[in-house]
Amino acid sequence: MDRKHKHSVKLNDGHYMPVLGFGTYAPADVPKSKAAEATKVAIDVGFRHIDSAYFYQNEKEIGEAIREKIADGTVTREEIFYTTKLWVTFLRPELVRPALERSLKKLQLDYVDLFLIHMPVAMKAGEELIPKDASGKFLLDIVDIRDTWAALEKCKDAGLTRSVGVSNFNHKQLEMILNKPELKYKPVCNQVECHPYLNQSKLLEFCKSKDIVLVAYSALASHRDPNWIDKDIPHLLEEPILNTIAKNHNRTPGQVALRYHLQRGVVVLAKSFNEKRIKENFQVFDFKLTPEDMRAIDGLNRNFRYAKLEHAVDHPYYPYSEEF
Ligand code: NDP
Repeated sequence: MDRKHKHSVKLNDGHYMPVLGFGTYAPADVPKSKAAEATKVAIDVGFRHIDSAYFYQNEKEIGEAIREKIADGTVTREEIFYTTKLWVTFLRPELVRPALERSLKKLQLDYVDLFLIHMPVAMKAGEELIPKDASGKFLLDIVDIRDTWAALEKCKDAGLTRSVGVSNFNHKQLEMILNKPELKYKPVCNQVECHPYLNQSKLLEFCKSKDIVLVAYSALASHRDPNWIDKDIPHLLEEPILNTIAKNHNRTPGQVALRYHLQRGVVVLAKSFNEKRIKENFQVFDFKLTPEDMRAIDGLNRNFRYAKLEHAVDHPYYPYSEEF
């Protein structure tokens, strides 16, 4: 691996994705300026892969942070790998390109590196981020994800994104895309919740067999936003086995939780808006878990899911009715 692509994985379309990414989602009550400050720290400490989304409503600030770090000479645009996601109110094909253009405008960037379908379950199209009826019920929509995918492919052809991928898809939904007539590009990745309590070993095996990278989110026990997260699921970083392994390596449970993915061929995201923890999360390339450590962490799999997407259980594209 040449220096330029250090700690990166080659995607099925020839581009490279850094294997450790910086997550930028925070619940709505956290000021967006925090995302900008944290992104600058993350770039300073070495993160080159930055994960955001239209839904996070922070792309203006993240774009400013990236452009500032380019302007001060810390990085070039080419060294940054920036991901945005198509929000579920824009899954109708005619809305896809305008949605990406909207993100680019907020970011003040010419292109993104990766554009993902955020979730396969569409919500009612319109300006509301989370459309609900008078009783508070989410208003869903049914859009064929293959049509959405074809519109993403056009965004890649137009140079607005380097790569295209999906998020929160199960293996059958991935197959729907892969088997689509006139498929032009395969998804480069599937970004899903993944951590020792939900290690996604079957989905990972499936993705590897199709040359699709699995990208892990909520690898550090999730943002715990009560709007989305099942708070009854135990906190991963308090897990005794993870703590024992961390002590043995003179590391933190967070570093072990991140390193675990790197050693199993999973690209991993880590969100922190705290300077000390941002630095800590980047220090995962200078130690190695033993095969016994890896087996012990594999043994923690409990199929505990922090984000269950309960609003969508009745939708035909609800991803979690399948085993994987
Ligand atoms: P993580 O699991 O990465 O982090 C959870 C929390 O852990 C953070 O809020 C952080 O708090 C804390 N933390 C960070 N580092 C450490 C550490 N070393 N030790 C102890 N605690 C730590 O959060 P997310 O669920 O947000 O997932 C990461 C990213 O994945 C998101 O930010 C987003 O970019 C993406 N994502 C994508 C989704 C999708 O549907 N595609 C869904 C969810 C997330 P603090 O800031 O105080 O350090």
